[in-house]
Amino acid sequence: PSSDLRYRRVILKLSGESLADSGGRGISGEESGEIARQIKAAHQSGCQIAIVIGGGNILRGAQFSGRNAMVQEATAHYMGMLATVINSLSMQDALESIGLQTRVMSAVPMEKIAETFIRRRAIQHLEKGRVVILAAGIGNPFVTTDTAAAQRALELDADVVLKATRVDGVYSDDPEKNPHAVLYESLTYGEVIAKNLKVMDATAIALCNEHAKPILVFNFKKDGNIVKAIQGETVGTWIGT
Ligand code: UDP
Repeated sequence: PSSDLRYRRVILKLSGESLADSGGRGISGEESGEIARQIKAAHQSGCQIAIVIGGGNILRGAQFSGRNAMVQEATAHYMGMLATVINSLSMQDALESIGLQTRVMSAVPMEKIAETFIRRRAIQHLEKGRVVILAAGIGNPFVTTDTAAAQRALELDADVVLKATRVDGVYSDDPEKNPHAVLYESLTYGEVIAKNLKVMDATAIALCNEHAKPILVFNFKKDGNIVKAIQGETVGTWIGT
């Protein structure tokens, strides 16, 4: 560990889709393996890493309940939380298979599968060099794992929320639809809200804004970007005060 380490502790937010093949469904060993290798490389620099994994490759509550009228929306959100647990277990083994020590901590108690999230215990794991995988979001329906990432960044006193996406950062418009969309190097929370930019869900932005917790939005698909983001190199879009 070097003394000029930029971040002491980070929250890495991975969408469920980041674990999947290009179709965005299921779990791909290849994709998870590549992410795991990068996390290992970054971890070797001494940064404490907690990962929040989404569940969108399996199920998102709001979408699912929209298509299945017989399932209540709250139920569908709990199903989404379970999806994040599936992804977390997979990522745990991907990380451990290359020699990292990990703990999965679930916001919904599941004693046979994972530890229950307890703030002080999570901090202990991080300080002992374990990569902590935070499953089941915050354990409540009607929010997403973006909110969980912001929430955990605050309570675990992380230096930054690193939001991994498929595009290079935050654009003025959807870059996958509009070729003239402009990439921002940095933004304030106020600008994100005023321009209604799609960064993270509104609750997550509000939490980070209120507590001045910076967010870095970056493209995890580009070579070595996860390592760069964790090591504090300039990639993506920086959002702060
Ligand atoms: N979810 C929830 N509470 C949480 C976190 C997640 O209800 O604290 C549900 C919600 O329905 C969400 C789904 O789990 O859509 C999967 O998470 P998310 O959509 O954040 O996954 P991602 O888009 O990051 O893959």
